[in-house]
Amino acid sequence: MTDRISLTEVGPRDGLQSESCELPTAIKVELINRLIDSGLRRLEVASFVNPKKVPQMADAEAVISELPRRKDVRYIGLVLNDRGFERAVATGIDEIGMVVVASETFNQRNQGASIDESILVWRSMAAKAKKKNIRAGIMVSAAFGCPFEGEISEKRVLDIAQRVLQEEPDEIAIADTIGAGVPAQVASLVSKLKQMAGDIPVRCHFHNTRNTGLANAYVAIQSGADVIDASVGGMGGCPFAPHATGNIPTEDLVYMLHRSGFATGIDLEKLVETSTWLESKLGHSLPALIPKAGIFPGPRESALV
Ligand code: ZN
Repeated sequence: MTDRISLTEVGPRDGLQSESCELPTAIKVELINRLIDSGLRRLEVASFVNPKKVPQMADAEAVISELPRRKDVRYIGLVLNDRGFERAVATGIDEIGMVVVASETFNQRNQGASIDESILVWRSMAAKAKKKNIRAGIMVSAAFGCPFEGEISEKRVLDIAQRVLQEEPDEIAIADTIGAGVPAQVASLVSKLKQMAGDIPVRCHFHNTRNTGLANAYVAIQSGADVIDASVGGMGGCPFAPHATGNIPTEDLVYMLHRSGFATGIDLEKLVETSTWLESKLGHSLPALIPKAGIFPGPRESALV
């Protein structure tokens, strides 16, 4: 029996947002089309935040207007306030994602609001999204550590989760924004969150800053996570978190999952081609290892059999 795991590709948003170069709209659109062509079906494509703070996402509307609309492909836009919500709705996006940071200082820096204020924004946004038939997900970020406050307790993350779950989101996510978490923590938090969330799917977002990203993803799946985020090439970090480099690379995750007996619906060869193409557009290499090492078994190893 093969288990199927859903992946969300966050490269076009989370990834590009932390790139210092601003890719032209046409290249972003080509990237998303290539990712769809390699089998990805749910993609975070834009954030509707202040373009002065995040100039890389200033063309959010233009990107979305150029994307193919397919029944089997869903796009997510990140929103942090009412203004962003209205902008997202105007594009006809399928899903919105909102974030509450599990650290007061980080939430203030990221969203200019307290955790309580952000939860109130989420409440009104979730209600409005339901009326407009737009899926709404909520993410508790910095769930394994904060660059400003240090350790974040599991209890604190679960308390926030409990509060945001009252709005019955279409999905609840936890993010290791600074890549501090290790598998034992992930197993504990994910299994508790899964129990708390009931029928609401649990999504996990890991960063590979300390090389624990793939291990965390694997143990999250074993602990019941329904969806795992990844970024093509391992592009991305967080512009507001110092040294938060590297989402987990989609191709490395897909390789690990396929070889472990999971189905993802992704064509790994095409994905690697896209990663290599993206490196040429960005003008620098990306952290993913599969494009460097090759998919195993490749033509050379297969010939040895
Ligand atoms: Zn990320």
